[in-house]
Amino acid sequence: MAGFGPVVTRFAPSPTGRLHVGHAFSARFARERGVRCLLRIEDIDLVRCRPEFAAALEADLAWLGLAFDGHVRRQSEHLVEYAAALGLLEGMGLLYPCFCTRADIVAAGHAPHGPEGSVYPGTCRALPGAERAARLAAGLPYARRLDMAEAVRRVGRLTRHEAGDGRIACDPAAFGDLVLARKDVPASYHLCATHDDALQGVTLVTRSDDLRAASDVHRLLQALLGWAEPGYAHHPLLLDASGRRLAKRDAAPTIAALRAAGLGVDEVWLRVERAPRSR
Ligand code: GLU
Repeated sequence: MAGFGPVVTRFAPSPTGRLHVGHAFSARFARERGVRCLLRIEDIDLVRCRPEFAAALEADLAWLGLAFDGHVRRQSEHLVEYAAALGLLEGMGLLYPCFCTRADIVAAGHAPHGPEGSVYPGTCRALPGAERAARLAAGLPYARRLDMAEAVRRVGRLTRHEAGDGRIACDPAAFGDLVLARKDVPASYHLCATHDDALQGVTLVTRSDDLRAASDVHRLLQALLGWAEPGYAHHPLLLDASGRRLAKRDAAPTIAALRAAGLGVDEVWLRVERAPRSR
């Protein structure tokens, strides 16, 4: 793990909507822990992300008085780099094409539950070579999945450092064969975030508790690809008045709405501080 030297953190929102109080909490959590704190726009999902939301996120962060270091990295401008990382995993024999639709996966029957929902049943991992070649030759769309069992076998037991907990064991296998390159986007969150944290010299990954389990997968990718290992600090989620999670896609109060309602910067930060938390 990165040892001495200034702590480098990052705030990495996906521009799928306006900045809300949960984002503000997360951004300040990162800013307060980094001597350098980077801003990264995670916009590989071209359907859900919009450039106007990215511009608005940056404007809202500035209005809140949060400043970031260095240039703003936009993932959509770096697809070639993610393809290169995928190529390395491919060369290691750890990826396979998956032609399944969601319906195919449901039809395959009961699958164990993992941190991101049901675990892929492995249908396309077991495809006979000739069938796989025929489907590729026919130009059927496919995602690329990680052969998780093989990946875990190669790196052995892994641990990672979590603030407050120290060294903890990782369990990436709970995710099963994850998609590392989607059918519609030649990359995925896990791959891009881990790639960029390594490339950008992030030494402390800060983000909300809902991504805690994902950090085990990121640790696996680091071990496979020889990327530096950061520490991790997951923070509580903000909750609404009824104790439900203020999820990113739910109607969490946006900074723009609070501002339009006449709240000043300090009042908005008070809202953030007073919001109930998951722990
Ligand atoms: N882009 C992710 C999100 O908005 C956060 C990723 C991260 O911090 O690793 O949920």
